[in-house]
Amino acid sequence: MTERIRPEKIRCDACPVLCYIADGKSGACDRYANHGGELVRLDALTVIESGSTRVVPFLKDAQTGDDWDGNIVQQNRAFVTAVGAGTTYPDYKPAPFIVSQQVEGVDMVTVVTEGIFSYCGVKVKIDTDRHIGHERDVVRVDGEPIGHVMTSEYGSKMLSLGGVEHLTGGSKKEGRVTCDALLRLCNCEAVEMVIGEPGHETTLIVQAGRAPIINGVEEKLMRVGCGSAAIGMFAKQWLGHADDVVVVDDHITGVLSEHQAGKMLDVPPTGIRIKGRRSTPGRYFQVADPGTGWGGTNVEDPLVILNAFKPDVAWPGLRLMMVSTTGEQFAYYELDADLVPQPVPIPEKLRASAELIAENCEPSVCSVLFMGGAGGSLRAGVTENPVRLTKSVKSSLTHVSCGGAAAYVWPGGGITVMVDVTEMPSNSFGYVPTPALVAPMEFTMRVSDYGTLGGHVSEIKPVAQVISERDRKLGKRDSQPDPNARENYRWSRGEDE
Ligand code: SF4
Repeated sequence: MTERIRPEKIRCDACPVLCYIADGKSGACDRYANHGGELVRLDALTVIESGSTRVVPFLKDAQTGDDWDGNIVQQNRAFVTAVGAGTTYPDYKPAPFIVSQQVEGVDMVTVVTEGIFSYCGVKVKIDTDRHIGHERDVVRVDGEPIGHVMTSEYGSKMLSLGGVEHLTGGSKKEGRVTCDALLRLCNCEAVEMVIGEPGHETTLIVQAGRAPIINGVEEKLMRVGCGSAAIGMFAKQWLGHADDVVVVDDHITGVLSEHQAGKMLDVPPTGIRIKGRRSTPGRYFQVADPGTGWGGTNVEDPLVILNAFKPDVAWPGLRLMMVSTTGEQFAYYELDADLVPQPVPIPEKLRASAELIAENCEPSVCSVLFMGGAGGSLRAGVTENPVRLTKSVKSSLTHVSCGGAAAYVWPGGGITVMVDVTEMPSNSFGYVPTPALVAPMEFTMRVSDYGTLGGHVSEIKPVAQVISERDRKLGKRDSQPDPNARENYRWSRGEDE
């Protein structure tokens, strides 16, 4: 009788799911696999190279990496990111990679780990005047709430998605859908979401670095400013071609003849009367409801925001231009004998001015910022005294990056960071089904500072021993500072110790 040999399963302890993985199979997150009894991280470790000559291939014939030519490192610095590095959960053990190299005569060390974030979120900025939902409206994906609309700022709408409430605080499905949506957003994939309650919902497709698609229409332009700002910017061009100009905007609608800019340019009163709440001369709030029409209002015919002209001031033949804040909508009227605006073909100079407004608008883009915090557990993979890492970051002795991209560190407690996902290597993010997002995080500092904060100094390995030709090599982005650069650190400014 032949004895059936059961394949040996091994346990992955990189996250709390603790998968048992059979030979040739991968775990629940597809990040780790059992290759012949060895637990391997499936994505390649990502290394960012700076310098004129690419550093690959190297170590080709070397077994240990001891043959590494240190000069090549000097000229072509290699920064080991945490993308593909693996995790250390639970963090009673040092981070997967703690690598050192000399940079301009200074011994630097980078501690690299893929953090597991059950509490993280993303902030989304959507450049559009169009109404996507009211503040505090719930954002849903596959019917599950994953976040909400926050504020409207400078021609953009802001969403706050994810966070502990949706990842772990709701139903199982809510957590799974939220995690999946965050993962796709962070990996620069498109996510369709629905905002608002049935009957007045907006469908939105968001993808980092791309224009939003709102109710099936791709947005084009981000307004150059509010209606009042547009008056200031373009008033001079209208002189002699129109007696009055109204820049229609959901936030601040501007009226040339009443506006400070019009006064300075000696534009006489026209007797125009605007519906809405007057703020200061020539600046009106709430001229209409928010919507997808002119200037982010629900208006398709701009004349509906006008009351009758004052008969003692206005005159027949008065020339009026109305334009939206992106210059995409414009119209021209002249008052008839009853002082009622009648549409007339727009003079070429005014058409050109509307086109100039449009030209000054920047392309509409969705920005996705990953927001996470290096909690005490993650920090324990860096040092035995986690709070010292926080202090070191706050004192600009330790530089934080995510996949090599500089992370904005929030003031206040902890190491809470935000990073633009389009600046990170492709597919930087993963997930584990707890559910949680997996994101790369690197801490770079002087070796001496690492020792001071209680780092796992005995685990430091020279960079040449860590990277191999199997790794994914990327060039350094011009938009990103070198994490090793002196300018990142307080000691370079003579404020040492
Ligand atoms: S889900 Fe967790 S335990 Fe399972 S393979 Fe992935 S990291 Fe390892």
